[in-house]
Amino acid sequence: MYDFEEANVRRFLEQHGAKRAAIQLPAGLKQYLPEIKETFDKAGVEALVLADSCYGACDPADAQAKRLRCDVLVHYGHANMRIPTCLPTLYVEARILIDPIKTVEQALPQMKFKRVGLLTNVQHIKYLQKVAKLLRSRGAKPFIGRPGPRAKYPGQLLGCDFSCACSVASHVDGFLYIGTGDFHPLGAALATGKQVLAINPVSEGFKLISPAIDAFLRGRKAMIARAAAGNRFGIVVSTKPGQARFNLARELVESFRRAGRDACLLAVDEVKPEELSDFKFDAFVCAACPRIPIDDAERFEHPILTPFEAQVMLGKAKFRPYEMDEVSKEDLSWGKVR
Ligand code: SF4
Repeated sequence: MYDFEEANVRRFLEQHGAKRAAIQLPAGLKQYLPEIKETFDKAGVEALVLADSCYGACDPADAQAKRLRCDVLVHYGHANMRIPTCLPTLYVEARILIDPIKTVEQALPQMKFKRVGLLTNVQHIKYLQKVAKLLRSRGAKPFIGRPGPRAKYPGQLLGCDFSCACSVASHVDGFLYIGTGDFHPLGAALATGKQVLAINPVSEGFKLISPAIDAFLRGRKAMIARAAAGNRFGIVVSTKPGQARFNLARELVESFRRAGRDACLLAVDEVKPEELSDFKFDAFVCAACPRIPIDDAERFEHPILTPFEAQVMLGKAKFRPYEMDEVSKEDLSWGKVR
């Protein structure tokens, strides 16, 4: 089902004269370890599997690999986000070898727009031009947006970077998304205010996502109201290199203090309820991965807001239009220490 780029990995190992290599892979690929590891075995390279969770290219485990005396890191499942690493790192994107054309054809009667923005994640990126060709043959006009600061390819969406959707939003009537999961198409609908026809080539299903996602917005509004009733706020930042939004977190702490609220900056590797609950904060603001307050909110006993929602709570922004959280280069710097 996946392309693990055996020849490319072998070349990389040889090129760097690797004797010991660290393998890093997300949960969804862990079951494929025997197939992945075979490449290293054939090359006579000792493979050390880093078993901690890994959600994105925002989290290269180069420092851990170096501590374990590995010569190289091979990171599977994500495209290179251009984060500097302290030892040679290869990103194997693990593209899915399932042609989405059949499912796209089945879904087309649901697509009521002619000017269409095409979106996908890195696993399906190689099929984007093929889908564009199909749409043209059916009289539609496809647009593929330019990648943002975190993405590598035109049309590639990330949970923290919707630039490829926003860059063509004014030219299109709606979007067609190819990939699994709801977060990306939901985010694109909210970020652009346009409908998204989400096509899942793996399950061969599809659904239309409207920007007026009432239940989602009601839930977020209720979360902000619950947080507003609190007194002590934890502003959470991650130590993962691509999630370390210290500049943003420090600005948030200042905003809370100026508003007369008690706020404390918390740094943690993985933002999980188990790590944070003992501090007895009334609510949290997540200045780490933008997906956490949305995808994981139910796991937290206390409300967890996005930075935008925190500004709404403090009366510094309006709830509508709702803004999806995205990671910028400026967020990731330390800014001036006062
Ligand atoms: S910050 Fe979150 S959404 Fe962005 S790449 Fe990392 S895990 Fe994915």
